[in-house]
Amino acid sequence: MGVYLDTDNRFHRAGATTSLQCPHCGIHAHMRVGSVPDFTQMQIHRPKQVGIALHCEACNMPVFLRYGVKDYRARQIEFFTSGHQIERPTETFSYDYLPALVADAFKDALGCYTNSLLTAFAVMCRRTVLAAFDELGEQGKIKCYEQVNEIQQLANIDAGDFDMVRTIIFETDLAKTTDIAKINPMQAAILLETMRDMLYQVFVRGGKLQKALQLRRYFAEQAEQHNEAGAAAQETTTVPDNDSIIVRAMKRANGN
Ligand SMILES: [Zn+2]
Repeated sequence: MGVYLDTDNRFHRAGATTSLQCPHCGIHAHMRVGSVPDFTQMQIHRPKQVGIALHCEACNMPVFLRYGVKDYRARQIEFFTSGHQIERPTETFSYDYLPALVADAFKDALGCYTNSLLTAFAVMCRRTVLAAFDELGEQGKIKCYEQVNEIQQLANIDAGDFDMVRTIIFETDLAKTTDIAKINPMQAAILLETMRDMLYQVFVRGGKLQKALQLRRYFAEQAEQHNEAGAAAQETTTVPDNDSIIVRAMKRANGN
């Protein structure tokens, strides 16, 4: 049981997760084993970490993981269960709906997260919210505060982890970015989802709604113009007929 390499260079993953979110196609797919290190070479050089190449079954692209070695045994080399994914899926967002300064900062924040630079990610999140609050004003900031509290309740997030997130977003005493403490992967994941939801609610949702209404208004106007044009065309084609009927009737009445 566990994750290990046998003497025939077969990589076993009993009990370990065999599906991941692919950094190439973004699908949470099953990953089949591609290339593994050589058992004999590993026994000679005894590296503490090794790289394993998997292949995504959705797009067939290679996905690289780094595994820490737990134990060298005569018949098998045992690894720690979870491998570190070298390439993370690129985090995306509907930047078009964000004000330019907010979009620039959040793009960098997501770039940091994708590359596992978690403290840099937190610093860029702070910069993102400062740009957003400048744009939204005091009322908007209060709305964000309510929004963030709602996220904690809806997602039932641990208060300890969430306090860190709330500090990064709202703490007015954070004068410098160096005041932001180091955050762990769980806090970073919570911060990421909180930022996404908050920015979506205050910028993207309204923007999408306005765009959808603009489109509907445009199509309604087009349909109205089309109907008016149709009615006018019908009028111009029927008028001469009516005239000729009237003219013919008058001629007939006059005995012509
Ligand atoms: Zn894929």
